[in-house]
Amino acid sequence: MLKNADQAMYAAKDKGRNCYQYFTPSMQERATSRALVVRDLRCALPENQFRLCYQPIVELATGKIHKAEALLRWHHATRGLVSPAAFIPAAEDTRLIIDIGDWVFREAVRQCAYWRETTHPGFQITINTSPVQYRHDNFDVEDWISHMRAMGLPGPAISVEITEGLLMDSATKVTDKLLMFRDAGIQVSLDDFGTGYSSLSYPKKFDIDYLKIDRSFVRNLEPNSDDMALCEAIIVMAHKLGLKVIGAGIETEAQRDLLAAAGCDYGQGYLFSRPVSAEGFEKLLDSRGVRFGGMGLG
Ligand code: C2E
Ligand code: MG
Repeated sequence: MLKNADQAMYAAKDKGRNCYQYFTPSMQERATSRALVVRDLRCALPENQFRLCYQPIVELATGKIHKAEALLRWHHATRGLVSPAAFIPAAEDTRLIIDIGDWVFREAVRQCAYWRETTHPGFQITINTSPVQYRHDNFDVEDWISHMRAMGLPGPAISVEITEGLLMDSATKVTDKLLMFRDAGIQVSLDDFGTGYSSLSYPKKFDIDYLKIDRSFVRNLEPNSDDMALCEAIIVMAHKLGLKVIGAGIETEAQRDLLAAAGCDYGQGYLFSRPVSAEGFEKLLDSRGVRFGGMGLG
């Protein structure tokens, strides 16, 4: 009974405290399934169960692909392929994200070094980073930078995606790390621009290189719609500040054309390709030889 009461208390705390919650069996089920995820997550790195998938980031004016976003996948022995949405929160709560994030970085560096040799010398891989990494002392940005140097990669070979929420945290731990990236030439993208508080001062203050227009704006993009006006405003603002813009979640040609006409620099989404394995990505580059249509330039 005490354990159940505890569950209800945590639920009340999650709801912002100062309220009450009844215990329900689903709370217990959630807690048990989360404990199982955490248990298995601890074995995932030593047992080599993570892989990176890559999704192309396409230059809209030319259709060229010299960038990709690395997206983490967990190949679990019995659960099969587990999506990051299902395990990143648990990895963050347990701080396992620090080691997982290190693995993602090293794997992306290895892959990028290879693709710079075999595809395009300016190839760039973008990795997602969690706010928990920046707030933790064990996140060793200097080590990342020296690893890149040891692999013979210049800073711009890697870019890191951060979320807006991180920038609201002005702790020096966070800002110092972002500035270290900047000094090393590692570019920074703001992943979910427009969804949160979207302070217009953040991009300049933190020396951001790319704004990513969130999928939620792209989904219902139509000429003269509110979302279109928002996208246009974001693009104009970003360009005035010297930033490039990436439209995320592009699924239709109409969405791509509207964003391209508004001056959006890059696009990403199922229209071009779903996230694929490294081998799949190479096939994509080979087969394409061509561009993905952007602005009719073939
Ligand atoms: P995100 O960074 O916003 O990544 C984009 C997500 O949207 C990916 O989901 C991608 O598969 C999906 N997506 C891409 N294009 C389209 C589209 O056209 N339509 C739709 N409906 N979806 C599209 P995924 O791979 O499941 O990743 C989910 C989230 O997990 C990511 O969101 C990111 O926040 C997080 N994540 C992924 N890999 C990592 C990682 O290595 N480290 C950390 N900390 N987080 C990661
Ligand atoms: Mg991302």
